[in-house]
Amino acid sequence: MVEPFTRLRSVVGDKTAKVLESAFGMVVVDDLLRHYPRRYVGIGELSDLSTLGVGQYATIMARVVSAENRSFGPGGKKVRTEVVVTDGTGQLTLTFFQQRWRQKQLAPGTVGLFAGEVGEFRGKLQLTHPVYEPVESEDGPAEDSRLARGIIPIYPATAKLPTWGVERAVEQCLTVVDLDDDPLPDDVRDARGLPGVAEAFEGIHRPRAKEQWQQARDRFRFEEAFVLQTVFAQRRHALERDPATARPAVAGGLRERFAERLPFVLTDGQKEVAEAIGSDLERTHPMHRLLQGEVGSGKTVVALLAMLQVVDTGGQAALLAPTEVLASQHHRAITGLLGDLAQGGMLGGADGATRVQLLTGSLGAKARKEALDDAASGEAGIVVGTHALIQEHVTFDDLGLLVVDEQHRFGVEQRSALVDRSEVKPHVLVMTATPIPRTVAMTVFGDLETSTLRELPAGRKPIQTTVVPAAERPAWMDRAWERVREEVDGGRQAYVVVSRIGVADESEDKETRSLLDVHAELAAGPLSGLRLGILHGRLPPDEKDATMNAFAAGDLDVLVATTVVEVGVDVPNATVMVVMDADRFGVSQLHQLRGRVGRGSEPGLCLLVTASDPDSPARERLAAVAASTDGFELSRLDVEMRHEGDVLGARQSGVRSSLRLLSVVRHEDVIVDARNASQDVVAADPSLAEHPALAAAVRALEETERADYLERT
Ligand code: ADP
Ligand code: MG
Repeated sequence: MVEPFTRLRSVVGDKTAKVLESAFGMVVVDDLLRHYPRRYVGIGELSDLSTLGVGQYATIMARVVSAENRSFGPGGKKVRTEVVVTDGTGQLTLTFFQQRWRQKQLAPGTVGLFAGEVGEFRGKLQLTHPVYEPVESEDGPAEDSRLARGIIPIYPATAKLPTWGVERAVEQCLTVVDLDDDPLPDDVRDARGLPGVAEAFEGIHRPRAKEQWQQARDRFRFEEAFVLQTVFAQRRHALERDPATARPAVAGGLRERFAERLPFVLTDGQKEVAEAIGSDLERTHPMHRLLQGEVGSGKTVVALLAMLQVVDTGGQAALLAPTEVLASQHHRAITGLLGDLAQGGMLGGADGATRVQLLTGSLGAKARKEALDDAASGEAGIVVGTHALIQEHVTFDDLGLLVVDEQHRFGVEQRSALVDRSEVKPHVLVMTATPIPRTVAMTVFGDLETSTLRELPAGRKPIQTTVVPAAERPAWMDRAWERVREEVDGGRQAYVVVSRIGVADESEDKETRSLLDVHAELAAGPLSGLRLGILHGRLPPDEKDATMNAFAAGDLDVLVATTVVEVGVDVPNATVMVVMDADRFGVSQLHQLRGRVGRGSEPGLCLLVTASDPDSPARERLAAVAASTDGFELSRLDVEMRHEGDVLGARQSGVRSSLRLLSVVRHEDVIVDARNASQDVVAADPSLAEHPALAAAVRALEETERADYLERT
């Protein structure tokens, strides 16, 4: 017997193992056993030859009477093997094309099982290319024969290893693998009436009835959810044990003074979440919280309150943003909101004021040194930055809180890079503006507590969204540019979003309009005379910054940009957005994009330009975006329409590859059930000492996740 984590090579041989590894990345026996059939083909009950009818799918057991190779076709180059069989009740012809060797295999006297659809040729019944399996004795098929079982598994396969090759390798593994230890604890399994692991592998690979593979599937689906949730339950449990510095609110501190001078009233949601975070920070264990909130729901202020609470206790806070544009925008916004509270050590600074530093890859040497020094000495209470915060040797005097904005761009590992470096773990707040359906949050961010901001600050005008079918109604396009002009004439600003840049890049989709083309056309045509700016990811960072700053300051009227404006860019004076080739963007992405307009007191307008067909699914998606402003509803829709992998995101591909039967879209109940069950198991046995097979499965999953991360950096 071998363990499930034994190398495949030692069971199926070098050659097959190599194919399995290169085609599917399989390394150990367990990998192959979890390579489940795509579908099953039923082959029916054994039939009598005397009762066969045309069109019937039949399995017969019969003895070969004769087998002849016959030539046919031009020049007699093709060969057809005609095999006549009998079962005593009648005769039947089997035909195989281009399989000369069948003649030898099916020598007269051979007894076998044949399965296929009954056809007719020249008035006689026949089976063409039936499935064939030899039978050792005439008493009946060997006990284990798949024909006798009546169900043939069909595997994901490759040219080098067709489905029956996979099937054979699986059988080899099943006969030698030791499946005494079940990753699912007995009581968890029994409570749900799920089969044990050995029975389930048998049921999924060699079922004798449909119910068997169905039950096996249910079990493995639950197991996938359960192992993943156990990883998270253990992480949460460990965090509960980790020490952290308590950061209680300080009366008369910066947080309080800032709250008093806020230029607006916090929404109820903001108050509630700010309080929850505030009390998390008072605990002596690190907070690990995910804050989801509609675009424009005001997450930054909530985070700022938390950061100030930490600063009040003498600690520091770091705010990690995914792009330079966002980092400097946050820096600008926070400095602006804090006013003299952020002018520590400066003339005019308030009593007890702190400092807010920006740290990005593109800083000049002097600015960088100042930021680094202030972070290290503790002078800077708040440091805002990009990846540079993680990658460089940044030290903090006393990092108490890490805020990660727009989480989906960062992996778990990147979060921990900064956290693990600190002697005492800081509290962590993760913010995302992409509303995540509950199951996805549980699957991808299962180690975080979740808070949600559902309402927008009062006085926000809803964004009006209209689809502009450029091909059918060219006049609408002209009207769109007119609208942009009108807004600009009224002192407001606009975005034009395009799907690609247009510099030489083979991978670009040439069907769409490029940024450079659109910019040139607009400048020469409908928007001539307006101040147009260009923003995309390949510009040098200082140029990006300059453009963004100019737009924010109102020195540009229209920003022609790629999706770099998608996340978090906040220019309240921008009121209209035109999205070119809108069908190229996902539903949630469009929702994100349009969140850039209507952030001030003026209503926002979003025009989705498309050349897609009126009845196409693409057009339907755009109509859905135009019809709803509820980000959660749209994200559910998005999840339904996209592939699982896109939903989980590239960063989460370690998790993704472990989910074979579980869908975060369709199996919400399974995920919730598994989460509760794993929570109980981990609470009772945190190190899983009583559950070695579960512990091994958890380790294996964590290793894939890690390996995946290493590959990506
Ligand atoms: P997001 O949640 O998308 O990150 P922001 O934090 O950028 O949203 O907030 C969007 C804008 O709304 C900012 O200009 C911010 O100052 C403002 N804002 C935040 N909270 C409120 C509020 N309660 N009332 C009015 N405006 C607010
Ligand atoms: Mg934001």
